[in-house]
Amino acid sequence: MTRQLLLASRNTKKLLELRRIADALLPDLQVLGLDDVPAYDEVPEAGATFADNALLKAREAVRHTGLAAVGDDSGLTVDALNGMPGVFSARWAGRHGDDRANLDLLLGQLADVPDDRLGAAFVCAAAFVAPSGAEHIVHGEMRGRLVREAKGDHGFGYDPIFVPDGLDVTAAELSAADKDAISHRGHAFRELAPLIAHALAD
Ligand code: IMP
Repeated sequence: MTRQLLLASRNTKKLLELRRIADALLPDLQVLGLDDVPAYDEVPEAGATFADNALLKAREAVRHTGLAAVGDDSGLTVDALNGMPGVFSARWAGRHGDDRANLDLLLGQLADVPDDRLGAAFVCAAAFVAPSGAEHIVHGEMRGRLVREAKGDHGFGYDPIFVPDGLDVTAAELSAADKDAISHRGHAFRELAPLIAHALAD
């Protein structure tokens, strides 16, 4: 019997990333996205933390579909801004998902901050919820620093101004596979995959 797992997201890049990671452990698992199931009213990401939002999305997905589900939430935390934009990363400039406006606003806010204080991290919380009610939550992080000039055409969001620790190129200059190997989401999904495998084997 093919087992199914729903990722409570419409982001195809996240879906492919979770599929690649889950495939290694659970080759017979079918990973679906929100576009593959009947539409339901999605709750706004109103949680105070990444973990709150990830759990909210996964619980809601299970409630509406009866499938085991993964919810994730991620964002950029900037040291000099006390961890902001954080859970507001996607709508920092006011409109959800306007990557260029978010990035320009952030760089403007950091104009007077010296280069040696531009430390930042991408953070991801990923939650697994089974129809039985069993829950797991994990966190992943990718530390680095911000640069003032956007570079690279890959990735999305703040990738063009983020240089991961140990590298001298931005996350937007990495291939998808190279970014997956070190990214906050990659770390979180890889930690969650065996927990999912175990829960679905029961
Ligand atoms: P969400 O997890 O899809 O809600 O993403 C929230 C926001 O965080 C995105 O819209 C981006 O602005 C930012 N973000 C999360 N992960 C990344 C990443 O890997 N690269 C660049 N920006 C990211």
